Amino acid sequence: MSERGTLIVYSGPSGVGKGTLLQPYLAAHPQARLSVSVTTRDPRPGEVDGIHYWFITQERFDRLVAEGGLLEHASYSAHSYGTPRAQVEEQLAQGRDVILEIEVQGAMQIKRSFPDAVFVFILPPSLEELRRRLSGRGTEPPQVVEARLAAAIRELEYAKEYDYLIVNDDLQRAGAKLEAVIAASKCRAAGMLDYVERMVHCCEHA
Ligand code: ADP
Ligand code: 5GP
Repeated sequence: MSERGTLIVYSGPSGVGKGTLLQPYLAAHPQARLSVSVTTRDPRPGEVDGIHYWFITQERFDRLVAEGGLLEHASYSAHSYGTPRAQVEEQLAQGRDVILEIEVQGAMQIKRSFPDAVFVFILPPSLEELRRRLSGRGTEPPQVVEARLAAAIRELEYAKEYDYLIVNDDLQRAGAKLEAVIAASKCRAAGMLDYVERMVHCCEHA
């Protein structure tokens, strides 16, 4: 792997199915990496430190921000979340695709610092279905579900800033679309011009 990897920003309201959709994608693309964020929220049952998140204190989070150790950061439902810089940059340089599963404020920061990143937003089939999925997951008490639904409505305002919008109605169909948009993004002319350049250069020196 020598070409630089693609940075994929992957957003959508909590409970829309981002994690569920991403699992088969990551299984099918072992070179791709899901960035592990830092967060100040408590782990949910089954969540493992260093795998789902790095669970850290607010004090440590603030220090990381001050040291420039985060590519982006934001606050969501009264907790702080951020993307550790070093690993993402290293993996992109190694030619790996890196997926940032982050909310919209963080995504807008990445848009400014990585204009070549691919921006994918997952939409629910309806807000009623989103409520059903959030409650069905059973990881949040009812008042948190309501707060996350209110946040979802605010987040939908940002959908227009993304390159691709995928409705997660049927898992298989949405998964195929995720696969397709990432593949399409790798064929964007701007990202392929180096390839053309090298081919022509090679021919000129043959
Ligand atoms: P997120 O990562 O966006 O917070 P999850 O992947 O945890 O969301 O999914 C939330 C819930 O919705 C889970 O219980 C999951 O099984 C369910 N879910 C995800 N996608 C679908 C779908 N297409 N149809 C029905 N249920 C789904
Ligand atoms: P949850 O608490 O449900 O795991 O995540 C809440 C929200 O925070 C989700 O929208 C998730 O995508 C987002 N999030 C997770 N990690 C990060 C991060 O590093 N930066 C930002 N900006 N958002 C994040």
